[in-house]
Amino acid sequence: MKRNARDDDNNNGGEALLAKKSSLDPAAALASIRHEFGEHGGVNMSIEASATFTVMEPETMRRMFTGELGPDNDFFVYSRHFNPTVLNLSRQMAALEGTEAAYCTSSGMSAISSVMLQLCSSGGHVVASKTLYGGTHALLTHFFPRACNITTSFVDITDHEAVAEAIVEGQTQVFYFEAMANPTLTVADIPELSRIAHDKGVTVVVDNTFAPMVLSPAKLGADVVVHSISKFISGGADIIAGAVCGSEKLVKGMMDLRGGSLMLLGPTMNAKVAFELSERIPHLALRMKEHSRRAQVYAEKMKELGLKVIYPGLEDHPQHKLARRIVNKEYGYGGLLSIDMETEERANKLMTYLQNATQFGLMAVSLGYYETLMSCSGSSTSSELDPDQKEAAGISPGLVRMSVGYVGTLEQKWSQFEKAFLRM
Ligand SMILES: *Cc1c(COP(=O)(O)O)cnc(C)c1O
Repeated sequence: MKRNARDDDNNNGGEALLAKKSSLDPAAALASIRHEFGEHGGVNMSIEASATFTVMEPETMRRMFTGELGPDNDFFVYSRHFNPTVLNLSRQMAALEGTEAAYCTSSGMSAISSVMLQLCSSGGHVVASKTLYGGTHALLTHFFPRACNITTSFVDITDHEAVAEAIVEGQTQVFYFEAMANPTLTVADIPELSRIAHDKGVTVVVDNTFAPMVLSPAKLGADVVVHSISKFISGGADIIAGAVCGSEKLVKGMMDLRGGSLMLLGPTMNAKVAFELSERIPHLALRMKEHSRRAQVYAEKMKELGLKVIYPGLEDHPQHKLARRIVNKEYGYGGLLSIDMETEERANKLMTYLQNATQFGLMAVSLGYYETLMSCSGSSTSSELDPDQKEAAGISPGLVRMSVGYVGTLEQKWSQFEKAFLRM
């Protein structure tokens, strides 16, 4: 028999979809949500590895399809719609970001494209930051105009007047930016940018992939937070996944059987993947603190070596004061730093020594792994931008982006960096 809906209400306050929207620290918020036990009393939740779900009465099926019965009262239809295990991970994501609800997807890109298609209509307009992840930039520049006549104006989000000017009241539907931008590590003034957009009735969507735990965009005013879970949240560089965190209305809208982008485009997360990821979220806070601690130490030491380092935790970072004001305390300033080596040749030389001579890190795109990952942004993750767009985004050809890992001792790893640098 299905559990009685009223019993379920008593157990969880009738908030199956909802994490408690709160102003808590992200780790505190995660610890305050319901702990999901396994079917047999296991400390870990069970995996609901079913594509489809049975009912006792045919009438129940009809009521599920009208939306009268749903995940709120523990009724599930089919796993492209809500799946209990994916929903549990999604509740963790909502708690992490302090939003009412969230839902997880098969990739960061599918989270981004689905939420944009949910919020925008054909002929619609987006205002977006000039400095974005290459895939997102390409989606807005090339794919959306061709496929659905959604156009984007790109702006420098540190120029608030330009942002206000670019947003066309009644036409612009979404204002999109990254909380900490790839790869320049520009920190967005989320409170002020949200205010500007809200004044004109525009929805604010923020990609927080670079700074989970460190920044909480929704608490600072954003309406929707998107994630590539493939990065820090996963931490294993083994899974591609994403999430959309926002209001219950948005998440339910995206799941609507007739008009929801997640339901109809179908970038579904597998329940087994959701379980894997769910087991990693409890130590995300510890990992982020160590990523940040080491990035801060390296950034300071690199500066002493005379390198041109970009790190939001350095006082000479253009948005350091802002960052200090808006970060969640105790998580530092994130695990990414960039070194401007000026030319691609010098960038490549440094990375070659760091990987092949001293084993400091690995030449690879992506971020959030336990090993340090390094890539030359202009010729890799930002290569979708043409030279003018790169210049506008502040991406020098010699910019090395580093995702600082936490394996080994800090002293051991730093001496590997120093050795490579001296050899160069
Ligand atoms: C990686 C990344 C994405 C895309 O995520 P996938 O999981 O690779 O689809 C989007 N935004 C940012 C900032 C990223 O780093």
